[in-house]
Amino acid sequence: MNKLRFSDLIDVAMVQELMDGYYAVTGIPTGIIDGEGHVWTATGWLDICTKFHRINPVTAEKCRESDTYISTHLHTGQPYVSYKCAHGLTDVSSPIIVGGQHVAQVMTGQFFLEKPDVEFFREQARKFGFDEDAYLKALAEVPLITEEKLDAIMKFLAKLAQFLADMGYKRLKEIEAQEALQQAHASLERKVEERTVELKAAKETAEAANRAKSVFLANMSHELRTPLNAVLGFSQVMKNSRDVTVEQRENLNIITRSGEHLLHLINNVLDMSKIESGRVELEESPLDLHQLVQEIRSLMYVRAHEKELNFTLEQSPDLPRHIAVDGGKLRQVLLNLIGNAMKYTKQGGVTLRAMGTQQETAGRASVRFEVKDTGPGIHREDREHIFAPFVQLGDQPPTEASSGLGLAICRQYVELMGGAIGVAGEPGKGSVFYFEIPVTVLAPETMPAARQRGRVIGMAEGQPRYRLLIAEDHPENRLLLHKMLEPFGFDLREAANGQVAVAIFAEWRPHLIWMDIRMPIMDGLEATRHIKATDAGAQTRIVAITAHALEKERREILAAGCDDFIRKPYKDVEILEALTKNLGVRFVYEEETTPVAVAMELHAAALAELPDELLNTLEQALSRIDINAVGRAIEEIRAHHPSLADALAAVARDLQFGRMLWMVRAALGETGPEDETCIKK
Ligand code: ADP
Repeated sequence: MNKLRFSDLIDVAMVQELMDGYYAVTGIPTGIIDGEGHVWTATGWLDICTKFHRINPVTAEKCRESDTYISTHLHTGQPYVSYKCAHGLTDVSSPIIVGGQHVAQVMTGQFFLEKPDVEFFREQARKFGFDEDAYLKALAEVPLITEEKLDAIMKFLAKLAQFLADMGYKRLKEIEAQEALQQAHASLERKVEERTVELKAAKETAEAANRAKSVFLANMSHELRTPLNAVLGFSQVMKNSRDVTVEQRENLNIITRSGEHLLHLINNVLDMSKIESGRVELEESPLDLHQLVQEIRSLMYVRAHEKELNFTLEQSPDLPRHIAVDGGKLRQVLLNLIGNAMKYTKQGGVTLRAMGTQQETAGRASVRFEVKDTGPGIHREDREHIFAPFVQLGDQPPTEASSGLGLAICRQYVELMGGAIGVAGEPGKGSVFYFEIPVTVLAPETMPAARQRGRVIGMAEGQPRYRLLIAEDHPENRLLLHKMLEPFGFDLREAANGQVAVAIFAEWRPHLIWMDIRMPIMDGLEATRHIKATDAGAQTRIVAITAHALEKERREILAAGCDDFIRKPYKDVEILEALTKNLGVRFVYEEETTPVAVAMELHAAALAELPDELLNTLEQALSRIDINAVGRAIEEIRAHHPSLADALAAVARDLQFGRMLWMVRAALGETGPEDETCIKK
């Protein structure tokens, strides 16, 4: 610490009060002065000194001699110093030493130890021109004390100085501690500042890396989706062909399933990157929850069958039906959880439980889903971190490709929907993944009418001959669109880049342009802007087709003037629906048929009621893949159960013999799905 000041260490006002008390009792003046001559306390100082001796230069010189003596003898280690000045007055001082530093001294005086010689003072008055009366009056005020009293005064003084020094020392230690604390605090603040700067730099680097990653993922997903579009689209085109054989159809189904699996993986990676960069938004719309659950059940029946697992749906009666929710995300979460349950379970089965929880306020409710499996289960210590991206537990090698992103996406989506997700169960006894989300319950009449349409089989009569331009740089994808549209008798032309598309537009004036966005020479956005800038362009509908899947691109595409937007890989229905939406093209639909899997499931119970004999005949025909025998067996069933026969005939038309066989065997009590039951809560 720097030079210590008395007032930094001692409460001066308190000491002044103490000294005033001392003066009142003893009548002896006191003061506390420091080395620089600063007077901290002063009590009862004598006129003889302040008005006479210290005023005249000659007598003041004597005073200074006294001061000098005292100050030079203060540090001899004695508790006090006393000095009798040339005028016969005595002064006593005691040093206050704090932490080795002289901070001030307590002094008392002046006083006489013996009666003063008045004549001497008269002489002084004359010699130095003092007003004699006033001078002698001041002299009379100087206290006279005895030797014994002097001893007591000195001891008191020394003790007081010691006491003040002790107090000062304590205060000094406090100050030092405070300073050390302040320094530590300042150094901490400096460190925090330094760390903040470092973190900011690290954050910026990470953000730049993240941006680069997003761009990379968007590009990569584009590159992967483009060929996938051709793979899935051509499989579809071939499946639609009449002369495809059973074996070819099976092979095409495998291609489609593998392609869809690949698409699922690409979408997962893309979803995760969207989540990480905070670009995922909730898109709520009306949903028939019962229908969604049934749809999922139909989808899962097939997978369960392939893996020889049971799949059970337990739908509680209080599950709300018409709700507003982000249906896409809810569906993805359910499919991910059930998909995992199937993936990691080797024997037994998977149960989906869907239930409503108590209605909170009018229109608001919570729904809870549980996906229970008989797989390996998850250890308590893994339950939290399996929801982090890219975490895969090493102890159970999955049978199918996985990315370690499924659960991370589930958690993000459930939380975005305002809910919570978790997992329970015992290692070795299976897992239960569960989540609960709040939903808005809707009145049935607010639900949009469900579109019930079968396959498109042609175009309605009396429509213009539409000119459609396909602008797409990949020859396979150009050909795919061509093959999808050709059977309907549209006039088709093709362009391999935006520039050619603009030229064909100017000369041919198509009704609609399928505009790929990424193309060489001139991309789809620029071509759209050129076309839409012309008067004729306003009459031409432009439907963007892109493998990009980010919302940002969608906005860019619409801002460039495109009327609609389709993502690759697309299905043929999406292409046809875009024609209806944008040009009003009317198609003829095949009569609505119940989807195969649903038809089968609806009739699982009816199947079980058939006589075993009929079932056995059907089973044998199916196992031989004898189409004619299957047909005959179905006709025999018609006599017992006409609607069941219709459903079976539909399945047979789709050549889904494997699935039918599995159902029949289940009805015979061999293998197959458990029957659906409602939960009795
Ligand atoms: P993955 O693509 O690997 O399935 P997920 O994020 O979906 O990624 O799951 C993370 C990990 O959690 C899986 O690798 C697996 O180890 C474990 N897991 C997920 N679901 C189950 C389940 N139903 N039973 C056992 N383990 C599971």
